[in-house]
Amino acid sequence: MNKNNLKNGYWIFGNKGNVWSNNAHIFQAGTSLTLCGVPMLSTNWAKLEDVQEIGCKKCLELYNEKMKTLLEIINTDNEPNILKDI
Ligand SMILES: [Zn+2]
Repeated sequence: MNKNNLKNGYWIFGNKGNVWSNNAHIFQAGTSLTLCGVPMLSTNWAKLEDVQEIGCKKCLELYNEKMKTLLEIINTDNEPNILKDI
């Protein structure tokens, strides 16, 4: 998935190794771990190198799961099904 498709509040993260192996992660603003639980201790090379593509399968899976849950929450209030920024 391209990083431009991430919802507000979600960002791409990758250390040097991640960037080289096309394995950039996703993190949520305000946390120090990627969605898949990798501590973000190093420089965000994915940002510096302007990496576009999220490569981490686990992060993508968790991100999609979060978005699905979000839609279900919004659906329970009988309002139109629009993804709101949190
Ligand atoms: Zn990940």
